[in-house]
Amino acid sequence: MKNPDVIVVGGGAAGLLASIRAAMDGHKVLVLEKMQTTGKKMLLTGKGRCNITNSDSIKDFITQVFPDGRFLYSAFNQFFNFDILALLEDCGVETMLERGGRYFPKSEKASDVVEALYKRAKDLGVEFIFNAKVLSIEQLEGKINSVTYLNNNLEEIKIPVQNVIVCTGGKSYHGTGSTGDGYVFAKKLGHKIEKLLPTLVPVETFENTASEMQGLSLKNINASLIIDGIEEDSEFGELLFTHYGLSGPVILTLSRKIVVALEEKREVKISIDFKPALDFEKLDARILRDLNEHGKMKFANLFKLWLPQKAISVFQKLSNIDIEKQASKISGAERKKIVSLLKNLEFTVKAHRGYNEAVVTAGGVCTDEVNPKTMESKLVQGLYFAGEVLNLDANTGGYNLQIAFSTGWLAGGLG
Ligand SMILES: Cc1cc2nc3c(=O)[nH]c(=O)nc-3n(C[C@H](O)[C@H](O)[C@H](O)COP(=O)(O)OP(=O)(O)OC[C@H]3O[C@@H](n4cnc5c(N)ncnc54)[C@H](O)[C@@H]3O)c2cc1C
Repeated sequence: MKNPDVIVVGGGAAGLLASIRAAMDGHKVLVLEKMQTTGKKMLLTGKGRCNITNSDSIKDFITQVFPDGRFLYSAFNQFFNFDILALLEDCGVETMLERGGRYFPKSEKASDVVEALYKRAKDLGVEFIFNAKVLSIEQLEGKINSVTYLNNNLEEIKIPVQNVIVCTGGKSYHGTGSTGDGYVFAKKLGHKIEKLLPTLVPVETFENTASEMQGLSLKNINASLIIDGIEEDSEFGELLFTHYGLSGPVILTLSRKIVVALEEKREVKISIDFKPALDFEKLDARILRDLNEHGKMKFANLFKLWLPQKAISVFQKLSNIDIEKQASKISGAERKKIVSLLKNLEFTVKAHRGYNEAVVTAGGVCTDEVNPKTMESKLVQGLYFAGEVLNLDANTGGYNLQIAFSTGWLAGGLG
């Protein structure tokens, strides 16, 4: 394409929406994508099912966004959850609502979402160049001037252009193309980059009890986050034990605070309550009843009444009770020990996993230097940012894709 009006750097969630919007407004749009196809990360979303968005109201939505979702009011007012669902529907992708307000394509295939958006962009005349790694974005006297990329034959190509939308994503899952290039471009153009950290990320624990239960996934547990001895947060839901420690939705949600606390060299513990529906007294009464009902049963078999198979040997070891002992011989103190293990199995967090296991990157282009009504840089005319490259990230639930869709759409309006 000769003399594009706008170059979109990155053909992921934000890049696709930005290019569609700009083309709908009649602009000549060129997308430079360093991978062989569009939306490689989107293909992984929702375990391949793509949690497109969430049914939350704008007010509730922004409470799920960090560090400050209020930056997104204008973007959400222009293009929100029902707009992306309507656009997809118009492209032939039917959607369905699941628990927690989560929307998915009815086909349960993320590839249907990516293909539909790519086809829509192509139909609108957007040109895509794949295997095109953008190397730099140049400015002259405070205005965007050109973009230089490396093509398939390793030649450097410079394209003069007055508008660039940076949609390069974060730094997580490098294999999908997001290697943090956008932060480098932004910094060179004078933008402040807020500290980058992996988030929505699993954690490693010192205790090997987690690895002994690896593969065990529990749906209704409560995990409390204890930092320097003070309970800072707690989450109810699903947890997964792995060979290195803990994962699953409750841990990913707590991970934002965990990562920061570890950076600050603070002591981080996670206490798991396996029986959150019963308080200490009620659980004690239930266990006492079970011990009485199964008086002749050996301690080795008793945990089957309270826990899934994979957890039993860990609890037996930690309770330090002779496995041959009969239920009727368990002392009051031993019973209290069992109750406290079930209510409070504690893990000390050693580290968080790296970017390649993090769902999103926290930190990024400082939003104070970006106009929330247009996504245009306040420092360089014709420079726009959209998606994860911005200092915005959110909990799981379809929020991160919606941020990319909404900011992409707004940026595509070119002011
Ligand atoms: C495993 C996993 C599951 C997830 N599940 C969900 C979910 O179900 N729901 C949800 O809301 N969010 C989910 N997310 C988060 C969501 O995928 C991202 O937040 C979202 O894709 C960000 O969109 P983006 O357009 O900013 O970046 P990306 O989608 O990462 O796109 C960035 C694009 O820029 C390209 N690029 C980078 N640098 C260059 C360069 N120098 N030159 C040219 N191109 C470049 C990349 O190749 C890539 O195609 C998930 C993330 C992961 C890792």
